[in-house]
Parts: sequence; structure tokens; C-alpha cells
Amino acid sequence: MKITDLKCAIIGNYPVVRITTDAGIDGFGQAESYKPYLKPFVLFYKDLIVGEDPTDVERVMLNIRRMGSFKPWGAAVSAIEMALWDIAGKAAGIPVYKLLGGKIRDKVLVYNGAIRKPMKGSSPQDYAENTAWMLEAKEKFKIVKQGIGYHSGMPQNVPNFSYGEVHTKGRSANRGPLTEKGLKHVVACVEAMKEVVGDAVGLALDCGPGWTIPDAIRLARAVEGLNVMWLEDLLTGDYTPYVMADQYREVTRSTSTPIHTGEQIFLRQHFKELFEKQAVNIIGPDPADVGGIAELKWIAEYADLHGILMAPHGTGDGLIGLAALVQVSATLPRSYIAFEYPVAQNGWWYDIIEGLPDPIVVDSFIEVWDRPGLGVTFNVKEAKKHLSDGEGDFFD
Ligand SMILES: [Mg+2]
Repeated sequence: MKITDLKCAIIGNYPVVRITTDAGIDGFGQAESYKPYLKPFVLFYKDLIVGEDPTDVERVMLNIRRMGSFKPWGAAVSAIEMALWDIAGKAAGIPVYKLLGGKIRDKVLVYNGAIRKPMKGSSPQDYAENTAWMLEAKEKFKIVKQGIGYHSGMPQNVPNFSYGEVHTKGRSANRGPLTEKGLKHVVACVEAMKEVVGDAVGLALDCGPGWTIPDAIRLARAVEGLNVMWLEDLLTGDYTPYVMADQYREVTRSTSTPIHTGEQIFLRQHFKELFEKQAVNIIGPDPADVGGIAELKWIAEYADLHGILMAPHGTGDGLIGLAALVQVSATLPRSYIAFEYPVAQNGWWYDIIEGLPDPIVVDSFIEVWDRPGLGVTFNVKEAKKHLSDGEGDFFD
């Protein structure tokens, strides 16, 4: 079998990748809805994969993997990798999880990092109310995640939150020392949320990036009695094109609160130092940014050898991304916690994708399905209605 074409369409903000073959089998991959600008980066790889056998996934990846990078630039490579596995599974007539070594669980736990309602403000009361609303979700999430500190409206909404200037432009642009008032505010919000979730639902906190090491240690120690699931991306994180393992180690070694990072990291090589230095307790690579689903599997196994847990990122990955997350998470070692459940940005996505369970999430779990490949397909007739001008031949 040979690859005949690589296409990309922006469907409702999501870059969707389609790889076609001379055997009439095609495969799909998807990148985050936050990256509608990715199309030319996907197509850049076309000449490097056409003519290759898509079922030799790793050989194809050797052609293109080196030319990706940290988030957002690894997403094109990652979405192509997903599509290759989709083809390989369809060609073999088996689900992708079998090709990754087989499943070790029949259903995968997910957590809420995507089902959101805007917060009224940044007070402890606002956090408590918002968290109570999350607990009412029909998915009955066993873990919910909230943004605090630099990963929230606090720098803008809380007077004298930090010593530095407040930046409102750019993604995750704030960084620097917090005032004592700011730090106390963060802790008060965490306490208010814990009051609501109790001890039956886990509370995870997305915190940055942008914290200083001393503030990060102060926060981690201040919430030690609260048993939060993790503090995510305190130092580096979203859209940070480096890792800083030594700095993370400093924080992690100073507290019993679990420290988490990794959503922006591309490739196994950039996790090596985090693991070998025991720099964090939990990692959260995203299959749609890290280099793909086999990359995530490899990283999870190596993390597990170091006692480091896995909670994959996925909030913006869409429904094909959801399928990829389910397939790979079914195969991850028991150090797997849960992945961040993505919801489609537009409701019509649920009409153009077929193969997902209904309801998708039951009691915070998704049952792993057994259809070939990623196990989801487009309803082409419905999907065509959402193609943009100039992309009308995407499914042809
Ligand atoms: Mg995050």
C-alpha cells in the first residue's frame, strides 16, 4: 500500500488531516481547534510521505518527525501520525490499540478540563459556584480541573495580585513573583473548591506557567493538607518551548503535593530529563502535540519506569482527537490516571462524526470500542456542509 495524498481542511476551526492510499483506504487525524493556522504546516510534509507505505508508521514518521517542534508546531506531525495509525488499523481490520500492544483496560477514565462555563469573577465564592456547577455535569466526572494563578483571570481581577505588570495580550504571558495577598487569594480559592468537591472527586489545578520557584513551593506546601490531584504547569507549560527540569525538581522535591507538566512538550527526548531527574510526579503530554499516539505510549512506559504518572492533555483535540486518546489510553500502564476529555467546539461535530458511543462518557469512563483504526468515521454527506470555500474536494 502506498500513500497517494495528504490533505488538510479547517473544519470549524479544527485542522483535519486526511491521508489517502492506492488501496482505497483513508485515514484521519485532527489538531486542536486553537490552531486553524496550521494547514500550510501540515501540507509542508506532503512530499515527504507520498509514496511511502502508511502501515509502516514508524518509517513514515522518520521522514517528518525531526521537522516538528514544541506546541504549536508539533501538531501537524502529530495529526499525520494519528491518520497513519487509522489507516494501519483499517488495513489490518483491528482497532489501533491492538497495534500499540493491546488494551489493558476496557474503559478509560477521563477528567473535566473542557466543559466550562465562564466564571463571574475570581473570588473564592466564584470558584466554589463554578466547581459546584461542574459536579452536576452528566458525565459525572471523578476529577475536575480548574485554572488558578497565572492560568486564570486572577492577575487581572485581583488587585495587587502580583508585583509585575499584568499582561493581557498573548497566551500565558504573565510571569513573576506574587504578592502575599495574591498567594493567599490563590490558597483561599483552592480551599473553597475543596469544600465543594469533598473527598470523592479529585481536584486538579492548572496554575501557570509563570510562577517563581519560591512561590510555587509556597503554594504547593500551603495546599498539602487538601490532597489536590496535582498542580499543573507552575513554572513552564502551555506555549513554553522548553522544559526546565532542574527547576521543576526543586519544586517537586520540596512538597508532597503532586507536580504536573508536559502539555506543550514535543517528543520523548524532551521528557528524558524530567524523568531521570525525578523532576515531576505526573506528566500530561497531548497526543495531538507530542508527536502522536505511539509517541505518547512510549513516553508513558518510560515515565512508569521512573514512578511518574500519566494524565494526558486533550481539551481542544476534537472528536478524532478523542478517538486517538481513547485508543492510546486503553494501552497505557497502570500509572495512567485519566485524560482530559475534549468536547467539540460546535455541536454539529457530533452529527458529522460516527462511531462514538452515546452517551460518550458514563460515570467518568469511556468504553473502549473495537472498530478498525481509530474507529470513528465522517458522515461525509453531513461533513461536506461544513467545508470552507476551496476545500470542497477534501473528501474526494
Ligand atoms: Mg494545562
